[in-house]
Amino acid sequence: MNNPETRKRWNKNHPEKVKQSKKKWNENNPAYQKQYRKDNIKKQKQYRKDNCEEQKKKNNKHYKERNLLINNYKISHGCAICGYNKCGSALCFHHEGDDKEFSIASMKTCNWERVNKEIKKCVILCSNCHAELHEQEKRM
Ligand SMILES: [Zn+2]
Repeated sequence: MNNPETRKRWNKNHPEKVKQSKKKWNENNPAYQKQYRKDNIKKQKQYRKDNCEEQKKKNNKHYKERNLLINNYKISHGCAICGYNKCGSALCFHHEGDDKEFSIASMKTCNWERVNKEIKKCVILCSNCHAELHEQEKRM
């Protein structure tokens, strides 16, 4: 049994026994087991960390693209009251009715169909007109 070739062949023919002896060896070497688990956890943590960065980058790209799309939409329409259309960030979606499902700003990265449907319910207003409108509503 000391011949490595013979041992290999024996191992191949007795997988159950190999499994058992490995288990026994592991039981007799808890320190090795512990270290192995520790290394594994470390590896998994690192993997998650790396992928998280990757995911963040992807999300960031998606967010930027969506932001641009929404900004372009706002600018192309301009403020419904005063016609302002210089800066997308200064324009917002104003829900006229009570059919608001969600705020566009908080759902920017959602399914575009859904966002688009919500956008269609809104009028574009600049910050000034939007604030004036809400001020009037408060007074009413
Ligand atoms: Zn305006």
